[in-house]
Amino acid sequence: MVNPMTAVPSAQVATVSRAGELSLTLLGATGSIGSSTLDLVRKNRDRFRVEAVTAQRSAAALAKLARDVGARLAVVGDESCYGELKDALGNSGIEAAAGEEAIVDAARRPAEWVMAAITGAAGLRPTMTALERGATIALANKECLVCAGALFMRRAQEIGAIVLPVDSEHNAIFQALSAGRRADVSRIILTASGGPFRTASLEQMRAATVQQALRHPNWSMGAKITIDSATLMNKGLEMIEAKWLFNLQPGQVQVVIHPQSIIHSMIQFEDGSIKAQMGLPDMKLPIQYALAFPRRIASSFPRYDFRKPGTLTFEEPDVKTFRNLTLATEALFKGGNLPCVLNAANEIAVFAFLRNRIGFLDMTDLVERTMQHVPFIEHPTLEEYFESDGEALNFAASLIKL
Ligand code: NAD
Ligand code: MG
Repeated sequence: MVNPMTAVPSAQVATVSRAGELSLTLLGATGSIGSSTLDLVRKNRDRFRVEAVTAQRSAAALAKLARDVGARLAVVGDESCYGELKDALGNSGIEAAAGEEAIVDAARRPAEWVMAAITGAAGLRPTMTALERGATIALANKECLVCAGALFMRRAQEIGAIVLPVDSEHNAIFQALSAGRRADVSRIILTASGGPFRTASLEQMRAATVQQALRHPNWSMGAKITIDSATLMNKGLEMIEAKWLFNLQPGQVQVVIHPQSIIHSMIQFEDGSIKAQMGLPDMKLPIQYALAFPRRIASSFPRYDFRKPGTLTFEEPDVKTFRNLTLATEALFKGGNLPCVLNAANEIAVFAFLRNRIGFLDMTDLVERTMQHVPFIEHPTLEEYFESDGEALNFAASLIKL
């Protein structure tokens, strides 16, 4: 058995496949991915033990789930929520902590498997910390790789840590890769649903409301990624994520619109053969795959039924309307700190859109102007990534009066 991405030899993969319980930490436990992960943990209690759970603000919800799964530590990022967390944990015996550093400390605790499900670049430091001590990383937080993918994957290789993609497209590619030799991959084809505005005109998009943008046709997710799916920035971020995860040249990453979201992504090998991974759109599938890797756990998830009439369709993405894809492609090819800058500007843009401070199409303009403003660094250090992130956040915020 070989880890298809980092070619980790079988002896190391075997460390996550022993019969006893697996210890877990969940970074971003109260979110959409965090909640789905916890549902799976509850269903398979004998297999898992929870070390730490973290959230940014929702102290009551965090305390409830920490009690529910018997976590040893619960951490809120926002220090003003500490009292509420401590009270809600009462005499449960679960440790409470608060603050950004406390989240990093939680990642340092000795859990074998860490779900990285914090939203945004805020997930980078805790996830890197877990990686540095050799934990298996179940990676939902794509922004980690968008911001610092070169460093992140290099460290994973050096340490021999396993990175299991949870993003459905990357999980699909990871699964499909076991069908052939990595060296024989010609390109990968990321599928995109096209989001709620796939057939909308520019005028309709200019007038799009937050409610309309939050109505994703196929997936139920946190607000940030749902808006990214409506602008197709999510697919742009995923192109960059794929480049680092699978060590690809930018030109090997292709995007196709597939509105039904049944094919989660594909690999084309040198001989022209295509391997796809398919299933109904439900994030529990890739999360469970990462929990059970390299085995599988039987599930009662609904199955896609080929006997029922249905159509799978494919379209070329409209990069003139969805300019975010063009911007992300530029960042993908140029590399350096540009993807980090794109990501930071996008975080501000989505934040502002969700609060009705800017319009739907303004988000792209904000990202473009920030990419033009922040100086390019070809080979940034981790600290330079953080600086570029900060600079881009500040500049993008200065363009709108937040
Ligand atoms: P969400 O908004 O539902 O949850 C985010 C979690 O992170 C919450 O627990 C929140 O408290 C915590 N958090 C937010 N900001 C934080 C900060 N600054 N510091 C510390 N903790 C913070 O998000 P989600 O939809 O679960 O997505 C999480 C990550 O997974 C994102 O990177 C997203 O792109 C990725 N992802 C999500 C899905 C999905 O279906 N939801 C699919 C693929 C990838
Ligand atoms: Mg995805």
